[in-house]
Amino acid sequence: MAGISRPRGTDDLLPEPLARMARVLDAGLEVASGFGYRQVETPIFEATELFVRGVGDSTDVVTREMYTFADRGGRSLTLRPEGTAPVVRAFWESDLRQAPLPVRLSYAGAMFRYDRPGKGRYRQFHQFGVEAIGDSEPELDAEVIAVAWRWLQGLGVEGISLQLNSIGDQECRPAYRQALLDYFEPLASQLPALDRERLRRNPLRVLDSKELAASGLLEGAPRTVDHLCSSCREAFERVRLALTAYGIPFQMNHRLVRGLDYYVRTAFEVWHEQLQGAQNSLFGGGRYDGLSELLGYPPAPGVGFAAGLERVAMLAPTVPAGPPPALAVLSAPPADPGAAIAAADRVRRRGIQVLCDAGGRSLRAKLSWAERAGVRGVLILGESELERRTVTARLLADRTQVELPLRALEEAVPAWLEGAKAVGEGTR
Ligand code: AMP
Repeated sequence: MAGISRPRGTDDLLPEPLARMARVLDAGLEVASGFGYRQVETPIFEATELFVRGVGDSTDVVTREMYTFADRGGRSLTLRPEGTAPVVRAFWESDLRQAPLPVRLSYAGAMFRYDRPGKGRYRQFHQFGVEAIGDSEPELDAEVIAVAWRWLQGLGVEGISLQLNSIGDQECRPAYRQALLDYFEPLASQLPALDRERLRRNPLRVLDSKELAASGLLEGAPRTVDHLCSSCREAFERVRLALTAYGIPFQMNHRLVRGLDYYVRTAFEVWHEQLQGAQNSLFGGGRYDGLSELLGYPPAPGVGFAAGLERVAMLAPTVPAGPPPALAVLSAPPADPGAAIAAADRVRRRGIQVLCDAGGRSLRAKLSWAERAGVRGVLILGESELERRTVTARLLADRTQVELPLRALEEAVPAWLEGAKAVGEGTR
């Protein structure tokens, strides 16, 4: 077809997959709400500076993946690639900062990254996340993980593993960084160009290099946990104890460093066995105690996670099914179409899903359309029905029909559907 296509790396969310994703998200919001997290929504675009400072100018996201544009006023804006920096900005720009700390917030929405599109990797995708801001207690790190874990458990997602690491803080990271440089510098000639560049800009990032993992050069690399200062070591121990109290198993992953600069101490991802390579994480997160200052605000420690909704929806087996269309209300011309419109409205008020066709086509055409639309039954309003002040109610499965009084439609239709269900069950 020669028509205009959607941009590469984007998807149209069609009714079924969209309804599925919405139910997956609803389940997440409900779990988060049970832990006291309240939903916020931030703008889809922000000042570019927010991400350059907050995410870090040496990260892939900032150097290669942002959708940045100048608006008509000449401001540099960026479609948000992630939700944490915007939520922390919103925390400072609102009354939320007056609330008792930590402030527990959740968010959901579209994120944009100019990445190479593939299975489970898009340029526009959706994340659900939570942030707990204003508290540095390690038990909160475990709580955030528990929100995500309980959500996946509730959706029946199996084959997941929690990957856990501590990447230290401003106090212990410089020495660790140096240890990494000391280890890799003699090997520099064997490193791919991209990793030499990473080593120069942000040495921790070489730890999650796929090329290096394949080469075996990472095997002997120094581990963050062996370089933690005493406060980071104690904090990490408390995170692990709290996870045990939640009954959440974890795997130590010494190469887990996360792509974004603002993380300190706890870093985690949840992997799924069916997701491959770089797309294997369902969600990731960690503690970001330095982020607030990077954005130009007073200090405010925080911890959070972000999950890819497309990936979770893809792997969730027990997403409850949405309701199928239940009824079609059809006018039979030349009867007054207004009577069908009013009847459909009254039935909908009882919470029943109703498709209405009050147009000028023949009843025959409408009936054949209703069959194809997959409704359980039809309500027909023709001239003879209107004269008798009734509607004809027909079940499509066995074509049995009854007349229902128009006056008491709100009660008669649910009772008829209920009776039809009982009969249907009896004959099965
Ligand atoms: P990140 O913000 O990079 O830690 O990503 C958190 C989660 O968002 C990942 O675990 C994925 O589930 C999801 N995600 C990240 N990037 C993409 C993408 N390009 N397409 C789809 N999902 C993504």
